[in-house]
Amino acid sequence: MRWSISIGKIAGTTIRIHVTFLLFLFIIGIAVFRQNGVEAAWDAVAFITLVFACIVLHEFGHILMARLFGIKTRDVTLFPIGGVANIERMPDKPYQELLVALAGPLVNLCIFLAVTLALSQNLRDLDIEKINDSATSLALRIAVANLILMIFNLLPAFPMDGGRALRALLAMWIAKSKATKIAATIGQGLALLMGFIGFFGNPTLILIAAFIFMAAGSEAETAIFHDITHDLTIRDAMIDTPAQLSPRDTIRMAIDRLQGSTDNEFIVMDKAHHEMGIITRDMLLLSLASHNDETQISSLMSRPESMLYENDPLDKALTIFERGNDQALMVKDMNNDITGLISRAAIAQTILIKTARPDWKFYRGGILAKSLPRTNRDQQAASSLP
Ligand code: ZN
Repeated sequence: MRWSISIGKIAGTTIRIHVTFLLFLFIIGIAVFRQNGVEAAWDAVAFITLVFACIVLHEFGHILMARLFGIKTRDVTLFPIGGVANIERMPDKPYQELLVALAGPLVNLCIFLAVTLALSQNLRDLDIEKINDSATSLALRIAVANLILMIFNLLPAFPMDGGRALRALLAMWIAKSKATKIAATIGQGLALLMGFIGFFGNPTLILIAAFIFMAAGSEAETAIFHDITHDLTIRDAMIDTPAQLSPRDTIRMAIDRLQGSTDNEFIVMDKAHHEMGIITRDMLLLSLASHNDETQISSLMSRPESMLYENDPLDKALTIFERGNDQALMVKDMNNDITGLISRAAIAQTILIKTARPDWKFYRGGILAKSLPRTNRDQQAASSLP
């Protein structure tokens, strides 16, 4: 994530703070300072920082539960609107998704109970309005904030945890895509209701409602997408005879190759057939303006961090493409040999085929790139130096 600062790593997950969050803290601090002085400003900043620390703990509830099911999370980023955990994928089994969704709010419940117990606060006397009262102790306000966070996140609307929990519950009885559509519709209905209530004096509620309404829609879309791709593997969509370039090839040679073929992605391999990186048509065209003809491919290619296996679910590639800037990724077989590439375009084509013919089966086997001789075309390109 650009514009974010890493502040540490817990259990393999990097915690990042987006600069907008720091800006947000700063603006709140200044605003409170101008109204109520320096003490109130520090109090406000401390309160917000602690609430967001609780949000990070909430996210770690999801992250650690997902890890229990073998799903990793690369990082979690703190934005002014909350925390966003980069969970690799959602578990496929409904009960697992249910547990992952509920683990976050459960953390808030635990914090709430722990703090109120420590303060020996009688729960019956607890008033949510106290959160706005500066006479209330910081600890009690944090407890109340956690209660609100839990209730808010349990709203049965996407993309709230409650919406995911509802979808998981439904998916135990009906097909997942149907469950998602129902949960998304309930979420959108709830968002409309919230917007309506917000109309009578709470503009923030209208904003939140609009956010939920749109997020629920896009979640339903993703689910339909998932329905198409969920039983496909990388092998079904991969380019198993990718065009090759050598790291020492020049831009001129690569452009000549582009002009003479339909290849959009190139795997960059050295003479010993070690994969060095990937370069795509778009990357080549972009660097054309700023580099001279003799620039070598090795200085332009990307070295994607992620690597996929032929047997990986296609969704895994989708998730990586959604979250990063990679145009293509390398694919390996079980022996760790590179067997091809997977690109955004290749996935798009696969989805088009499956949309036209949902029952379509791909019968494909990978071809070992290592056993691939350099093709005649490669030789031609190599000899086309001006
Ligand atoms: Zn959550």
